[in-house]
Amino acid sequence: MNAVIAIDGPSASGKSTVARRLAAGAGYLFVDSGALYRGITWKALKNDMDVNSESVIDGVVDSVDFDFFTKDGAVCFRIDGVEPGLELRTEKINTKVSIIATYPSVREKVVSLLRGMRELGNLVIEGRDITTAVFPDARYKFYLDASPEERARRRHVEMAEREDIAEEAVLDSITKRDEIDTTRERDPLRVAEDAEIVDTTSMDLEEVIDYIAGRIEV
Ligand code: C5P
Repeated sequence: MNAVIAIDGPSASGKSTVARRLAAGAGYLFVDSGALYRGITWKALKNDMDVNSESVIDGVVDSVDFDFFTKDGAVCFRIDGVEPGLELRTEKINTKVSIIATYPSVREKVVSLLRGMRELGNLVIEGRDITTAVFPDARYKFYLDASPEERARRRHVEMAEREDIAEEAVLDSITKRDEIDTTRERDPLRVAEDAEIVDTTSMDLEEVIDYIAGRIEV
């Protein structure tokens, strides 16, 4: 069975950059699980569908066609033949994705697709429910955290390259997302009992990577 290193944590806690770098160092495949929730949201919005309607989104889940492939050490996908790329990262998607991620049909679909990725190779995979629901048997489990203000600062720097958005608006958006992600009924974001918490508020990226790399043996 291929090995899994699982990383969970709230929005903009640095999970995806850290996971990508760890994967590159270990020769594992990187998986950004949030991209699949974003992909379903992207498809719904592109077709002018009401993301607040669970039954409408159930229909999207039934018809969505993910085509996975590996590129540059990561698992990537096309949806209905199209690679959505940076369109997944807009503020419009940020504000809607957590809503659709509460729907059981969406979660079942994504969890099953993510589990299937283990067939592709050893994985470093990050998200909200990886340590608790997707791969509770992962070899290593981490929970990355940072203060909301620090997370908003980092996400704002990243988004400012593409979108004109104020840092306060980013803070507001990630706070709302955290609220939905931690209080939803199905597989909410929480710290797995056997996960190690890494508070990165006063650490830079290299320190976080060095720390976690020092905790794992691959
Ligand atoms: O990680 P990212 O910010 O791209 O995730 C987008 C959203 O997808 C999260 O806010 C959350 O609502 C949902 N998500 C989830 N479970 C995961 C990954 C993401 O519910 N494993």
